[in-house]
Amino acid sequence: MNRTEILHHLTASSLVDLAARADLVRMQCKGDEVHLRGIIEFSNHCIRDCTYCGLRRANRNVERYRLTPDEVVELAVGIAAAGVATVVLQSGDDFAYTARDIACIIMRIKERTGAAITLSVGERPFSHYEMWRKAGADRYLMKHETANPELYTILHPGKRLEERLDALRFLKGLGYETGNGVIVGLPGQTLEDLADDVLLTRELCADMCGIGPFIPQAGTPWRDFPAGRLETTLRVFALIRLICPEINLPATTALATLDPQDGQLLALMAGANVIMPNFTPERTRGMYKIYDNKADVSLEQALAVISRARRRVAPSARHAVLFQ
Ligand code: SF4
Repeated sequence: MNRTEILHHLTASSLVDLAARADLVRMQCKGDEVHLRGIIEFSNHCIRDCTYCGLRRANRNVERYRLTPDEVVELAVGIAAAGVATVVLQSGDDFAYTARDIACIIMRIKERTGAAITLSVGERPFSHYEMWRKAGADRYLMKHETANPELYTILHPGKRLEERLDALRFLKGLGYETGNGVIVGLPGQTLEDLADDVLLTRELCADMCGIGPFIPQAGTPWRDFPAGRLETTLRVFALIRLICPEINLPATTALATLDPQDGQLLALMAGANVIMPNFTPERTRGMYKIYDNKADVSLEQALAVISRARRRVAPSARHAVLFQ
């Protein structure tokens, strides 16, 4: 599929046909299993100031927390005991956790559970990625967010898209399964940018891609912009499934936030094959507020969505218009 065809499918084609094609490819290439990945949000401190994110350093309205390494390890043991085979360690770009601290956590979790470990801890010196790979980390998630370099720098003051792409390529070279990601509906983003996001995901040979709508967050410069559209987000899911058939696509929490009833179900019908329930302790869960009203997807809720998808339960009638 070339850029012109992608642009056509981002707007003009039937979503029901596009989603059905993506669903078929998902079934043929990935099977019918929906993979569960348990997230631990272990710190909401961040040294960066991303324009859209509620955890940005300049946001003084956030109550900050850090879990201790012992807490993180015990939560990971709980995830494995619940039958979830992958632990995702997520934080802001928090250098108070040294490379060695995180390496020790990885080794302790590996020793006690054997679970696959995914890191989502932001941009670090390349030597940190090497240390964590040697310690046993398997996967690394780092959303590129937009393939438009100018918009990327507006999103991440002082940063360049090329730095992030270099990091993703370096991680891949170390043998990590890598995940990039797209935010759909960013202020100033065009459909051409989204087509480039799809093509960039293919170029990066990403093993995973997190696709979520932009959701405004109080306390950020972009608090008053409208959220991204569900329909466009689903089109991006379907296109990335079609163009990267083997990729893993999580039905993201951002979709559950945009549409608590059906967001993740619709993603599973448009090519997604992963859900990431949250195992962060309740006392800190509400503090990891990247965006407003962030959904809290528990293991039970994830299993309920998967069950609806398996039974081919139709989304609510209000979505009929999307699928004409
Ligand atoms: S998006 Fe990530 S790096 Fe940027 S401010 Fe939020 S937590 Fe920090």
